[in-house]
Amino acid sequence: MSAHIIDGREFSAKVKDTVAKQVAVLKDKYQVTPGLAVVLVGEDPASQVYVRNKNHSTVEAGMKSEEIKLPDTATEEEVLAVVNRLNEDDSIHGILVQLPLPDQIDETAVIDAISPEKDVDGFHVINTGRQAVGLPAMVPCTPRGCIMMLQDYLGDLSGLNAVVVGRSNIVGKPMASLLLEQSCTVTIAHSRTKDLPDVCRRADILVAAVGRPEMIKGDWVKPGATVIDVGINRIPKEDGKTRLVGDVEFETAKEVAGAITPVPGGVGPMTIACLLANTITAACRIHDVDEDGLLL
Ligand code: NDP
Repeated sequence: MSAHIIDGREFSAKVKDTVAKQVAVLKDKYQVTPGLAVVLVGEDPASQVYVRNKNHSTVEAGMKSEEIKLPDTATEEEVLAVVNRLNEDDSIHGILVQLPLPDQIDETAVIDAISPEKDVDGFHVINTGRQAVGLPAMVPCTPRGCIMMLQDYLGDLSGLNAVVVGRSNIVGKPMASLLLEQSCTVTIAHSRTKDLPDVCRRADILVAAVGRPEMIKGDWVKPGATVIDVGINRIPKEDGKTRLVGDVEFETAKEVAGAITPVPGGVGPMTIACLLANTITAACRIHDVDEDGLLL
């Protein structure tokens, strides 16, 4: 039987709708307009598309959007100066510096310079640490979106075996941490993992965040498992154009899984929706507004 397809576009539209309502309440009741600033350094085409989409979604939700573009020759000091200015700007509640940065700029130094309370990407070490010990934190957008989709489809995740393939700081590790927070039994797999197919076959929840096109095959998937494919890989087509595929071989996996996210149209749209949701969280915390009470 073919798997249920978890529609990230449909779900992200609902999240964005909720965000827009929260923005309206923040404006009307608290005179706060949430603001998101996105800093783009250089001309990377994929980054330009992401930044354009983020800007569009922010404006659509009724928030203030500021886009700061710097040339790919920008120095670390110039980027830090922009970040410091945004840290001081009361109309900005979320700051996102689009990665990757050009080689001359130390990414860690830039992330560390972002005020933790405005760190809507959730990459600052303060947020990583707070999340790891169960304190309120800004949670990275992609893992937050994955958890929302899992909870929406499965309900309670407690006791399920979760395997996360990939251990990056921006996806794999925070994903594993969030699954642990939901009382899953979590395994983190990576490039040194022995017998990866067998490890994957134990997963009730299988999250692929590897960056290798269609690496995870259908016969690596436990029958009925829920598969979240974070991978975004562009591969050439015969006509010279390219197409997007995930880290999971969708056609074979969907015949075995209970549910699966497609690429495109799965995790990707949720990442932007969660960026907006994180900006609401940041605005509420900065202005001491109860986020849970916004739509009551
Ligand atoms: P990284 O390259 O930082 O990490 C990849 C991870 O995969 C590493 O931990 C690596 O292991 C592991 N890995 C690589 N090869 C293998 C292998 N053969 N077997 C097992 N594990 C392997 O990638 P990211 O985490 O940044 O991104 C992963 C994917 O998710 C990419 O396709 C990226 O484009 C996509 N992505 C999608 C987003 C979205 O919004 N949908 C957002 C962010 C990323 P090791 O540590 O041992 O090297």
